[in-house]
Amino acid sequence: MSERYDVLVVGGGLLGCLTAWMAARDGARVLLAEKDQVNQHASGQNAGSLHFQLEYRMVEDGEEAARVAAEAMPLHLDAAAMWARLEDEIGESLGVRQTGGLMVAENADQVGTLEFKAELERSWGLDVRTLDRAELDTVAPYLSRDIVAANLSALEGKADARIAAPAVGRAAVAAGAEVCTRSRLTAAEHGTAGWDITLQITDRTGRARARRVRAGAVVIAAGVWTTELGQVFGAELPTVPLALTMTVTSKVPALIPHLVQHAGARLSLKQSLDNTVLIGGGWPARLMRDADGAPQFDRKHQLIPQSVAGNARAAVTTVPALDRVPAVRSWVGTTTVAPDQLPLVGAVNGAPGVFVATGGSAFTLGPSFARVLTGLIGGRPPDIDLAPYAPARFAEGSTP
Ligand SMILES: Cc1cc2nc3c(=O)[nH]c(=O)nc-3n(C[C@H](O)[C@H](O)[C@H](O)COP(=O)(O)OP(=O)(O)OC[C@H]3O[C@@H](n4cnc5c(N)ncnc54)[C@H](O)[C@@H]3O)c2cc1C
Repeated sequence: MSERYDVLVVGGGLLGCLTAWMAARDGARVLLAEKDQVNQHASGQNAGSLHFQLEYRMVEDGEEAARVAAEAMPLHLDAAAMWARLEDEIGESLGVRQTGGLMVAENADQVGTLEFKAELERSWGLDVRTLDRAELDTVAPYLSRDIVAANLSALEGKADARIAAPAVGRAAVAAGAEVCTRSRLTAAEHGTAGWDITLQITDRTGRARARRVRAGAVVIAAGVWTTELGQVFGAELPTVPLALTMTVTSKVPALIPHLVQHAGARLSLKQSLDNTVLIGGGWPARLMRDADGAPQFDRKHQLIPQSVAGNARAAVTTVPALDRVPAVRSWVGTTTVAPDQLPLVGAVNGAPGVFVATGGSAFTLGPSFARVLTGLIGGRPPDIDLAPYAPARFAEGSTP
């Protein structure tokens, strides 16, 4: 006989842990299945930026692309409010600091981008102010003299990606969820009583055995494996995988209280609570693929030296004091965006009782994604219009 759960969460990243925690708090019997270890992939590899302004990748392709990306703002505003109370609710530190974020500009073109961006963001309800050079002298004296203006969002900041998902996972267990690592979902079949699921459990010696469970609802919280998981449930969930570069420096005396990004370059930069500086912002790394070009997400991806150097250059150009600070480690993380850059959130078309969320800055958006999904599972009408993020928008025959 299969064990019966109300909710099966597939994936032990931040989203999966948050979803398991919230569903268990709702009183559901919850199983979280993670094929590796909790926080082993994107949720533990990322920059920990809490982005509520549009990012460079959303403004670099012009105003129309930025307008589309801004449609995710209701989720960002929701996430901003949720991050502000998450540590209290979880009862552990997640390294959250919402001490403001700056998007900086060095020339007239970039200032134009900031002005357009701020107006667009304000139209969606995000409070963004443009600071001139004189104000930056007071607010962010660590910035290069070449920076002439910046957009400031007081809500932005950071959390610590090394500790956030494990802490939430512990809260999920305390709320009654069962968390099973080394448990890969390999098959799913829909029956009258829900989904019959096969998990492949691998023990420490590498021996595998099958465990069968039945679940009323399934949440795909699988990051770059979302498309693959969609196929198991007979659904098309198109995502674009990205391998990205991160670098951490040695410790420096407290210097940078803000999250810093750039209007004309790939850069995100922040000082962690341990005083190291995390440098990222979307510089590509080499995603491993098989002979047919299919991504191989379970392999180790490779740094591209030019990306590491370019990212460091962007950081030093923006914050010159970093010139004298040694980098101690660079690494690659993999993540996913949807083809139109908007997140994918909601019920999975053609797979009753299956829900998904992924895409974009899903560390920032994790709390909002999890709240929305557990609301749908619990039968609560969403308080955010989910239509722009519907997974079905990519299904054959759907109209944009
Ligand atoms: C270098 C880098 C920097 C980034 N910086 C930021 C940032 O600063 N701010 C931000 O908001 N976002 C950032 N992101 C994006 C962010 O990290 C991800 O969007 C987010 O962590 C995704 O979380 P997740 O829980 O959905 O997925 P993951 O953390 O990837 O977790 C998915 C889990 O699903 C498991 N899984 C997959 N298939 C199966 C299966 N069949 N059975 C069981 N388990 C399975 C995987 O093993 C994995 O642990 C960054 C990403 C990268 C790579």
